[in-house]
Amino acid sequence: MSAQPEHVKCLIVGSGPAGYTAAVYAARADMKPVLYQGMQPGGQLTETTEVDNYPGYPEGINGPQMMLDFEAQAKRFDTDVRNGWVTEVDFTGPVHKIWVGEGDDRTEVHADSVIISTGASAKWLGLESEIRLRDAGGGVSACAVCDGFFYRGQEVVIVGAGDTACEEASYLAKLCSKVTMLIRRDEMRASRAMQNRVMSLENIEVLWNTETVEVIGEDGVEGARVKNNKTGEEHVIPCTGFFVAIGHKPNTDVFKDWIDLDEQGYIVYGQPGTSKTNREGVFVSGDAADKTYRQAVTAAGTGCMAALDAERYLAAKGIH
Ligand code: NDP
Repeated sequence: MSAQPEHVKCLIVGSGPAGYTAAVYAARADMKPVLYQGMQPGGQLTETTEVDNYPGYPEGINGPQMMLDFEAQAKRFDTDVRNGWVTEVDFTGPVHKIWVGEGDDRTEVHADSVIISTGASAKWLGLESEIRLRDAGGGVSACAVCDGFFYRGQEVVIVGAGDTACEEASYLAKLCSKVTMLIRRDEMRASRAMQNRVMSLENIEVLWNTETVEVIGEDGVEGARVKNNKTGEEHVIPCTGFFVAIGHKPNTDVFKDWIDLDEQGYIVYGQPGTSKTNREGVFVSGDAADKTYRQAVTAAGTGCMAALDAERYLAAKGIH
């Protein structure tokens, strides 16, 4: 551990579209950004297959490659991209203290400005078959808007009963021949309006008190074995896509003593319409503060906002 903490002008935490876009802007503004990649370099897009809705890729691009492209662009302008995750912060200010890593590898960094781009993680059921097929790009997804297109005219299953599950089921119903919704209780958590929307769509079938036992398929999804938790009865639903919409968890735990979070852990903007948090010099971009849109392109947009806000903040403070 170095005796004297390193001092940086702009520290970016996280390496999804938000973090890398913030890095491109910050680097081009000569803020010499240092970016820590976090636990999952590249973020959620490394868990997806084809990305067809990010402008500028007319032929589409696979998620992991897209994040390598983002990283390469950030590095082209000399962003210092580092492996490591933030384990503690002290945002008393005016200089913010950040500790990276643990044990002997733990280092302290001081930053004039911080951009939080730690994203959110989709929750999964945790079934071996689900994770195997997800990792193989074999038809398991946590994002209907990203992946629904690949299942046009096909039968899919979606798990979850919140607003996201209802919204995604409705989205899928426009593309797919049939959508089966698996709901573990005998009621939905979603708002009444969202429930009504789902119930009004003829090609959505809702199965109550139903849990997933296994996602069937070797290289690609072929079906879902489900169980009625009241009767114990099991059956197989044929499908080629298996969507999981059981919530996201924003990766904000490390900031909770310093930054205002809502009840679900999403960062609350200190000033709407900006990327400012409640702490001077600390900005947020991407899914860490967004439970509504959650798209790569919106994350990138807010990454740009955070870098511009940080640049203006540093200029106002006379930090060059
Ligand atoms: P929620 O936490 O609201 O819902 C998660 C759902 O997944 C619940 O129905 C839960 O079931 C179910 N679930 C959790 N774990 C499992 C499991 N292991 N097996 C089966 N089912 C499971 O998450 P959302 O992502 O839906 O919503 C997050 C927030 O964002 C909410 O506040 C929501 O209102 C908001 N939102 C608003 C939208 C809008 O207004 N347009 C759109 C999307 C989200 P159970 O009910 O049994 O616990």
